[in-house]
Amino acid sequence: MVEALDIHVQGIVQGVGFRPFVYRMAKKYLINGWVLNATDGVHIHAEGEGKLLDEFVLELSDNAPAAAQVTQIELREVPLEDFDRFEIRFSDAAAAEQTTLVSPELATCDDCLRELFNPNDRRFRYPFINCTNCGPRFTIIEGLPYDRAKTSMRDFTMCGRCAAEYADPLDRRFHAQPDACFDCGPVVSFAWRQADEADAAAPTGACPPPARRREGDLLVSEGRTRAESDAIFARAVELLRAGKILAVKGLGGFHLACDANNPEAVARLRARKRREGKAFAVMMANVGDVRAVCEVNEVEEAVLTGAQRPIVLLRKRAGAHLAPRLADGLGELGVMLPYTPVQHLLMHDFAAAAGAGAGAAGVVGAAKAAAAGEGGALPPMLVMTSGNLHDEPIVVSDEEAYAKLADVADAFLGNNRDILTRFDDSVVRVIRAGSAGHAVQFIRRARGYAPLPVPLALAGQAEQADAAAPPVIFATGPEQKNTFALLRAGEKGAQDAEAFVSQHVGDMENAETYDAWLAARRRYEELFELAPAVVACDLHPEYLTSKWAHGQALPVTEVQHHHAHVAAVMAEHGLRDAVCGIAFDGTGYGVDGAIWGGEVMLANLQAFERFANFAYVPMPGGAAAIKHPLRMAYGVLWAFDLLDHPGAAPTLEALGAQAGICDAMIEQGINTPLTSSVGRLFDAASALLGVCAEPAYEGEGACLLEAAIGDLAEGDASGDAEDAAVVGAADAAGAAAAADAAERYAVAVVKNTATEASTAQDTSVVLLDAEPTFRGLLDDVASGVPVPVIARRFHDAVVGAVAQAAELVRALYGIEAVVLAGGVFMNRYVVEHALSALEDAGFTVAISRDLPPNDGSVSLGQAVVAWAKTKAM
Ligand SMILES: [Zn+2]
Ligand SMILES: [Zn+2]
Repeated sequence: MVEALDIHVQGIVQGVGFRPFVYRMAKKYLINGWVLNATDGVHIHAEGEGKLLDEFVLELSDNAPAAAQVTQIELREVPLEDFDRFEIRFSDAAAAEQTTLVSPELATCDDCLRELFNPNDRRFRYPFINCTNCGPRFTIIEGLPYDRAKTSMRDFTMCGRCAAEYADPLDRRFHAQPDACFDCGPVVSFAWRQADEADAAAPTGACPPPARRREGDLLVSEGRTRAESDAIFARAVELLRAGKILAVKGLGGFHLACDANNPEAVARLRARKRREGKAFAVMMANVGDVRAVCEVNEVEEAVLTGAQRPIVLLRKRAGAHLAPRLADGLGELGVMLPYTPVQHLLMHDFAAAAGAGAGAAGVVGAAKAAAAGEGGALPPMLVMTSGNLHDEPIVVSDEEAYAKLADVADAFLGNNRDILTRFDDSVVRVIRAGSAGHAVQFIRRARGYAPLPVPLALAGQAEQADAAAPPVIFATGPEQKNTFALLRAGEKGAQDAEAFVSQHVGDMENAETYDAWLAARRRYEELFELAPAVVACDLHPEYLTSKWAHGQALPVTEVQHHHAHVAAVMAEHGLRDAVCGIAFDGTGYGVDGAIWGGEVMLANLQAFERFANFAYVPMPGGAAAIKHPLRMAYGVLWAFDLLDHPGAAPTLEALGAQAGICDAMIEQGINTPLTSSVGRLFDAASALLGVCAEPAYEGEGACLLEAAIGDLAEGDASGDAEDAAVVGAADAAGAAAAADAAERYAVAVVKNTATEASTAQDTSVVLLDAEPTFRGLLDDVASGVPVPVIARRFHDAVVGAVAQAAELVRALYGIEAVVLAGGVFMNRYVVEHALSALEDAGFTVAISRDLPPNDGSVSLGQAVVAWAKTKAM
């Protein structure tokens, strides 16, 4: 019997080839009717035989295109209208398309890869191949609806063959807006210095095609034909093989690339980019190659090969000898697989030239899992670091690259498809998340993820009916690792409120980043047609973003940094009742004007009370103490009266005359703010241990201290054994001694003596006193305990403080829900051990899911606190 169904599909179903997929399925199951894109998803009117209709519906959820995410399918029986065919209908209401979600960038799909490396395909080696399942999206969009005329593909008129594919509902390029080929689409460009021209006539004969134009002292050629394009790749690979540095245009901006196995090239890139410490991320051809240098579990493999293609921080294999200065001193290496056709071609040709046989085109990749052990050859890999100077935003246009990266890159592999929105690579790692098994933890959320909204659960079950719809709120985000956020009501008001958290913007101290922030904010507001009614910003009066907020003619809600951290996690997890919010962080402006960062809060979305904090220590020189952790160490020694401890001698010696200066600054209160920051305690510990005295970036001390634990023999068990050997030399009961050692770095809990003037917000009930922690650490230093053991004990003390604080809050207030937030929880050891300790003790633990625990999530927290406050008014 023929029946009719109205089918409503929700989720990520636009810009991902969903309608053509529906059309093909309709043909397969002899369904008549239509499919239509609307603001709330895809609507289908389907008429067919009952059994076939059932199978059609099943296919919609089970076999949707790879990039689609079907979250809900609603079915409703409707009267037959006797359609005689199935058609794709187009919404004529342009306005109706305005609020549809924009897909993020999608890595080149397997179908396109097969064509890219198939000599018989008309797009063989075409560097901009794409389809409805892959390619650029948000980075090329100028306006909505998402249509070629409103993208940077506008200038490329499709040839007859591309136009035919684009118009054919059964073609996998049906309405693929960036569809193109050698005859009609973008092409690569290659720019090199005229002075280097003689070089071009290299023995291998890889010459770029003749220059078509000049840009200053650069000659620029273009790959308008396959032969020209191939010649450009050949030349690019030759330069990389020769240790040169190449600027390569990607989806969201340029990368700077060099041979990651060539120590001179790596050193040269560091020197030219003036980036001394921070590890470089690398690109490899396939998972098999990655396995040769890193441990890769199933979850990590899925993330590495997924359509988002982030940089994944993987644990280095023991015995894999990477080039010096690539990621020295760290246990992890940032790795990504190619995600654009340009990168696939480059990586493929580079690997082929290296004679490493990196698998056919990196499509599947020969599983070359043999570890690169002592003397073992490393798989081909390229450093792929952001194409920018210092902390400036990533460069997006060829011209900008020629100007800004002139002193860094030896040549430029660009193209004429404009990038309209700047995106860095996303960075994630997979952690052991207690009973949840594994979890993907964001370090930086950008390409592949933004601008998808972060799912929220703002309304509790009990009050769904009366939950007020939030006004549109713009949250500026914090000063560092900035993102901003736009919060708006969904169709059902507060229940399905959405937050558009921007891609990582960067550190706002520099003018270029602030300009990039202003531009990105405008684009989000325009594209999503959101006119904010409320602005939320940080409590710090001197932040550029705070000043901007107060300059708007809108009500402003100021949100304390760590309350925002905790609220962001609450919103992600739908927590409405008071939680124990543990925010261990680097820097945040406190209600009392001090620098917070070791806070235990009783918090809901509207307000917080500061229950506990790490006892203040002075930061001699303020920000200078972050750059020079020896000063921070001095502040800690001074605060805990440990200056005379024998374990402090090496530090005081290293400080030399600076010790006296620090002392005077503290005693006289000159430029010496007080801080409760756990991040600063990590800095101090790493300086006291000589692990890191001059960090190249904030937090390096903590990273190296964590990595030092890895120098212990494999796993915790043998770590304990080593403890026992060291501590219990004179003690027969080795295990007991190890347990003592763990206890020895205690964090004391002491009652805070509040003054009359204090409020619940700025003065805690109890203080977490790190004096015993540092005394234990110095005792160990003085008695020659190895650094890895001390590093682990210090980490255990921080984990212990988390557990102690949670227990205390539960005992006093009966609160069992614990939120972990702040940059300290990006420390793999701390987060994994804190999660298991809390879960073992019966707590419900929440931590960021779709955002990083660091300041990248603060904008969301600001937005939801502002919303909760408008509701309370
Ligand atoms: Zn594709
Ligand atoms: Zn074409």
